[in-house]
Amino acid sequence: MPQFSFEPEKNGHKSFELPGAKPHYNPDRPGQVEHIRLDLVLDIPKQQYQGTCTIQLNPVRSGIDRLTLDAVNLTIASVTVDSINQPFDYDGEQLHVQLKQPTETGTVLALAIAYSVDQPQRGLYFIAPDEHYPDKPIQVWTQGEDEDSRFWFPCFDYPGQLATSEIRVRVPKPLLAISNGELIGTEDDGDHKLYHWYQKQVHPTYLMTLAVGDFVELQDEWNGKPVTYYVEKGKEKEARLSMGKTPRMIEFFSEQYGYAYPYPKYAQVCVSDFIFGGMENTSTTLLTDRCLLDDRAAIDNRNTESLVAHELAHQWFGDLVVIKHWSHAWLKEGMASYSEVMWMDHEYGADEAAYYRLGETRNYLDEDASRYRRPIVTHVYREAIELYDRHLYEKVPVSTT
Ligand SMILES: [Zn+2]
Repeated sequence: MPQFSFEPEKNGHKSFELPGAKPHYNPDRPGQVEHIRLDLVLDIPKQQYQGTCTIQLNPVRSGIDRLTLDAVNLTIASVTVDSINQPFDYDGEQLHVQLKQPTETGTVLALAIAYSVDQPQRGLYFIAPDEHYPDKPIQVWTQGEDEDSRFWFPCFDYPGQLATSEIRVRVPKPLLAISNGELIGTEDDGDHKLYHWYQKQVHPTYLMTLAVGDFVELQDEWNGKPVTYYVEKGKEKEARLSMGKTPRMIEFFSEQYGYAYPYPKYAQVCVSDFIFGGMENTSTTLLTDRCLLDDRAAIDNRNTESLVAHELAHQWFGDLVVIKHWSHAWLKEGMASYSEVMWMDHEYGADEAAYYRLGETRNYLDEDASRYRRPIVTHVYREAIELYDRHLYEKVPVSTT
């Protein structure tokens, strides 16, 4: 269609837009999601889990009789509203709920979806040793950004929808379960343990997380708030070397941004086989365990320090202030990348910061010269993840300074 094949002035550059790219918009909102509660039971050996996702929805108007949720490759057992069974259709990508009682303005409904997942391919990952990697730890972790939360729980999966959240999860002992917000309770259940985490500040679905493993917890603090590092047992020293500056960074960014770190704790969990370097889930960043430095690497490797600063900066830019649409992800990624430069300047001085910024400049210019040139804000793509390029991260610090 001609209106979709708009091509910006390319100046001899290749097109950013892949075949099939089209404009993307947030869907119509049936209401404000006020709270999301997940109750999950993990069967780690079988790489399965089952549970209930309960969504408190405050409808935008009366008379809505159909709700559409994102839910990919889940097995849906039942859907209820205020405990009454509702008819639904599920095509493996979207869950359509036919409401027996249409919505009424001002009446919040509790939509409860019982579901299970068998060997998920995205969203939630089971990590286990195998014949090729017999030393691999047993872990479970999630990755929501950008549109993968729908692979691990049914939701209205777009960043403009902000809610409080809680996760209750049953895991085999001695594994720990870490999630957003505060640990409000634990319960022993024979060979298992229930962890109950509660996040009082609103956030989008892509920042909800769960990490389970036989971790050791190392404790620090900033202004009375727990700052914790979770690593596999035996990696305690590497954890301190790699993440030990976190309280000072929290202090620095709180001052620089003029807004104190807003969450009740800050946890960093180093997980195995993580698909990115790090992910800034609200108050609970996940990091690849490959970022852990030993004595020798800590001498001159600042990549981990930059990664720690980047994900921490997102707690303000991305998590506290949330983009409304993926086309604006440059706001949070650009600011987090610029915050790496700010930390370099604070910690190592202006020359080191200038050199660091030069590296970022070169990354961006390389992409501009060899791959494509694109508008920094664009909603034309196939999948939002295509936007996470050097224009998104590095161009903003280059332009800012
Ligand atoms: Zn980032």
